[in-house]
Amino acid sequence: MDHHSAHQTISEKTEMHLQIPLASPTPNPAMSESVEMYLLRIALLQQEGRPAPISALAEELAVSPVSANQMCRKLEERGMVHYEPYKGVTLTPSGEAVALRVLRRRRLWEVFLAERLGLEPAQAEEIACRFEHVTPDELAERLAGYLGNPSLSPQMAPIPPSMDAAARQPRLALSALRAGQQAQVRQIVADEPVGDFLRGRGLAPGATLTLLAAASDGGLLIATAHGTLTLAPDIVQGVEVTPSAAPQTG
Ligand SMILES: [Zn+2]
Repeated sequence: MDHHSAHQTISEKTEMHLQIPLASPTPNPAMSESVEMYLLRIALLQQEGRPAPISALAEELAVSPVSANQMCRKLEERGMVHYEPYKGVTLTPSGEAVALRVLRRRRLWEVFLAERLGLEPAQAEEIACRFEHVTPDELAERLAGYLGNPSLSPQMAPIPPSMDAAARQPRLALSALRAGQQAQVRQIVADEPVGDFLRGRGLAPGATLTLLAAASDGGLLIATAHGTLTLAPDIVQGVEVTPSAAPQTG
């Protein structure tokens, strides 16, 4: 058996043509990974609909409450969070932008590692948590394109859109969609129980929906990843979406 020639052929084929900067420019590299993990964790805790408590944040990040408290003070000085004593922290728009950027990378790597390489979801998430801090924008978008621009992670969590894409895309009221049109949820303004209910039915920022039908009173029938859902007119009013890419005219 001649293994030698086979090996040669394979190694010649592994050459890749990636021309992207591998270092992502950050204003404070020594702090960046830790800052990113705080902002990401705050974003995930905030999804429950209230400020992220310092104690919960400390627990999730496996640090002491004192360290978490100090870091949140620093993040507040940098304009990334609002700190409410005894309540917790909420992200400012600039803190949220960083968190969503990191979360997008995490979810994309999770899809790649779990769905393409067959890793267990928990292991994929653990490895993605390392990759998310060293993935430049160009690589993240190349990865998204390679994966077919997925909108959900293997664990069914929504993947935030890229900042560029989000900035370019128009935001519309949900009621402006036509029947059959697909869109991605940008924002939901609702009180806490309603927000929790909608999230449980697959309607949350970043999720994709399809408008199935509109009633004459303004109520809508939509389809989410979790099934169909009827929305009352006052709930429809609180939802902003970006229609999914359609063939451009003109
Ligand atoms: Zn991480």
